[in-house]
Amino acid sequence: MAKTGKIIKVSGPLIVAGGMADSKMYDVVRVGKQRLIGEIIELRGDRASIQVYEETSGIGPGDEVVSTGMALSVELGPGLIESIFDGIQRPLTALKEVTGDRIARGVEVKSLDHEKKWKFNATAKVGDKVTAGDELGFVQETPIVRHKIMVPYGVEGEVLEIREGEYTIDEIIAKIKTQNGIRELSMIQKWSIRKGRPFVEKLPPDIPMVTGQRVIDTFFPIAKGGVAAVPGPFGSGKTVVQHQLAKWADADIIVYVGCGERGNEMTDVLNEFPKLVDPKTNQPLMKRTVLIANTSDMPVAAREASIYTGITIAEYFRDMGYNVAIMADSTSRWAEALREMSGRLEEMPGEEGYPAYLSSRLAEFYERAGIAKVLGSKGLVGSITAIGAVSPPGGDLSEPVSQATLRIVKVFWGLSAQLAYRRHFPAIDWLQSYSLYSDRLSNWYSKNLGAEWNGLRHKAMSILQEEATLEEIVRLVGMDALGPKDRLTMETAKAIREDYLHQNAFHETDTFSSLKKQLRMLKLIITQYNLSNEALRQRVDIEDIIDISVKEKIGRAKYIEEKDLDRFDLIEEELKKEIAALWE
Ligand code: ADP
Repeated sequence: MAKTGKIIKVSGPLIVAGGMADSKMYDVVRVGKQRLIGEIIELRGDRASIQVYEETSGIGPGDEVVSTGMALSVELGPGLIESIFDGIQRPLTALKEVTGDRIARGVEVKSLDHEKKWKFNATAKVGDKVTAGDELGFVQETPIVRHKIMVPYGVEGEVLEIREGEYTIDEIIAKIKTQNGIRELSMIQKWSIRKGRPFVEKLPPDIPMVTGQRVIDTFFPIAKGGVAAVPGPFGSGKTVVQHQLAKWADADIIVYVGCGERGNEMTDVLNEFPKLVDPKTNQPLMKRTVLIANTSDMPVAAREASIYTGITIAEYFRDMGYNVAIMADSTSRWAEALREMSGRLEEMPGEEGYPAYLSSRLAEFYERAGIAKVLGSKGLVGSITAIGAVSPPGGDLSEPVSQATLRIVKVFWGLSAQLAYRRHFPAIDWLQSYSLYSDRLSNWYSKNLGAEWNGLRHKAMSILQEEATLEEIVRLVGMDALGPKDRLTMETAKAIREDYLHQNAFHETDTFSSLKKQLRMLKLIITQYNLSNEALRQRVDIEDIIDISVKEKIGRAKYIEEKDLDRFDLIEEELKKEIAALWE
């Protein structure tokens, strides 16, 4: 039954309505003759404050507000992949709808295509005992994504009927005999965006999400199910980092939530993402991507909802046992929406006008990331790795959104405008960045890369840190003041920076380094350092040590292809011979 109230006040995207006593928090409502979509975000007595997801011009006091009695939900099923949605999952199929004509207000658009027929391949059989999360079958949604059709939450019983064939997402594909009677299932599920989807248990994040980006995997690794933040000063290479992660990280599904500052920023994303090619399959990357786009001409309220819409979709794919990476860009724009709504609610403002609940709201988003044993009798494991960009005004990380984010995330990839200016890419500042997963992951690395790995990366980092100290001295008294040992440290740090950390995203081979290659490369540089130290002890002149000719080959090692890693043995041989020859 529809419950109807009346508007008392309109303030931009926020309206207050009376006569709403029968409604619940977070109920979706329809506002005015235009039937604009809104959500109740505060209830006091019979007064509801409603966040409206569409432009409210032409709406006024006295207009009707109808509660649907349902929470803001997303549609989950085949058709998600390759879609571009707005913050409340309305499809933006054509780019022109985003950049040009707006979607007409109040229109009832379905999130997924309800007409399209999908080939449902049954994997469960009649008589099978199934429980929530179990696979009934699958749709090969794209050449890359095997979209599992799962028994929805709350359903358990015996398969009475299962229908293989071509169906829309609304048609019945299975019947389950449950304790409460027969349940007919289709390929679509609905889930409220404000509530995390259930799982069996969270697991410790101790497997890395390998990205093939050396500075990340070696020094600041992220775990599968981990949470990271990346600040994005303009021109610092944030977009390239995100594209590299989307392309190369070992994630099955990518969910990208964009809150653009200016309209054209989001247009760039919508233009560029569909052009990216998935290196693993040579298919468009969109074949395993879901995009959620908020452009600046959409009301701020939709921005607020968008990250929850995104993470709910991510959870759905996690529940299939997949590794999902979700990127939110930028959470600062999202927080501004929160601030605006809070201001209109006339709440007591906190720091810089952000509401006091800024941190808890951010946490609610990041907490839904993680690696988990998912529902279902197979005991599958799925993960959501969340990467949030922050864009603090003036790059000042002491502002509230950055601070709140840094308290939650465990990895910080500090993009530096200075490094970008020097064309050092990726411009991730090795002195400022951190990963709190390093220790946890070190077991995995030792097991999979060998015991020497952790020592090598520690050594390399300490050389970089020493360089920073030595640079101070050089600045004061000049390079000549350094002893041979310090000269060697400076030379090695330069090699680590230029030959190792610097990684060209646009070079066919350099764009991705497997962990094996990272190990070989790092080992080469540190071996050179150790042997050079030995030569110094043998009183060889530092200039001769620095000038060895194999140096050039070490510098070009990043261009060695993955199939030719044996070539590292040859370079290492040559290195040993050349240095030994210095004192023989
Ligand atoms: P932002 O999104 O932070 O404004 P971009 O990601 O667009 O910056 O990067 C700006 C430019 O820096 C790129 O066009 C590219 O030329 C260069 N760049 C960034 N990262 C890399 C990289 N890893 N390898 C090579 N060039 C890069």
